[in-house]
Amino acid sequence: MVAFFAKKGVIDKVIVLENIHKYFGSLHVLKGVNLTVQSGEKVVIIGPSGSGKSTLIRCMNLLEMPTEGKVVVDEVQMNAPKAPVPALRQSIGMVFQQFNLYPHKTVLENLTLAPVKIKGVPLEEAVTSGLKYLERVGLQDKANAYPAQLSGGQQQRVAIARALNMHPKIMLFDEPTSALDPEMIQEVLDVMVGLAGEGITMVVVTHEMGFARKVADRVIFMDQGQILEEGTPEHFFINPTHERTKLFLSRIN
Ligand code: ADP
Ligand code: MG
Repeated sequence: MVAFFAKKGVIDKVIVLENIHKYFGSLHVLKGVNLTVQSGEKVVIIGPSGSGKSTLIRCMNLLEMPTEGKVVVDEVQMNAPKAPVPALRQSIGMVFQQFNLYPHKTVLENLTLAPVKIKGVPLEEAVTSGLKYLERVGLQDKANAYPAQLSGGQQQRVAIARALNMHPKIMLFDEPTSALDPEMIQEVLDVMVGLAGEGITMVVVTHEMGFARKVADRVIFMDQGQILEEGTPEHFFINPTHERTKLFLSRIN
């Protein structure tokens, strides 16, 4: 697996989506999406509910299989026969709206389980890096707590640390603060702003425009299964092109 990635050298396009279509039965949810994410880039995806944002981000690690089109990660087409999907998936961290922590495992066990079981990392090494990531999200003192003993914001920070402990090349976030009480949103956003500052490649579906403004290199507005408009945060806040974009932004701000 290491050799698989090592032979590639420097790769600046981490994910390339080419003409992605997705149907659920007869429902045409993604209608020809093209998107390239460069190494180190922070892409924020916004758009109305039901526009296909989750489906799109889930296509990036094949949690959803596109009906048509290509998903290319590190120059390897992932939705091709014999593609090394598990190896590639390990290089993509994902954080969901629901934290999905293992309730009967401690915080630290939540962090070490996948590296040890899936990647074969020695436990001691997974513990050392796990504690480092817990410190990064401000929760080193919670290593031995159980998820139910933590607030929602703390649980989501653990979920972020857990994804990081797989040492991903890219982090995907699907509305990571949408299930949180308002007073806990900022602590999670602060962690994400910190990660962005460290140069991690990030794709974030969020309605948090303050975050987009601070962090995004590029904002993508999705509507009805297509990318309707993309640009810098400034473009969106000062002069969006489409009426539907204006309407959406006026409703969430
Ligand atoms: P968003 O994240 O922008 O709210 P989604 O990608 O979740 O949008 O959903 C886009 C559309 O696809 C919606 O109409 C939704 O009901 C539908 N959809 C999403 N997942 C499934 C699924 N597993 N089966 C059937 N329809 C789905
Ligand atoms: Mg969604």
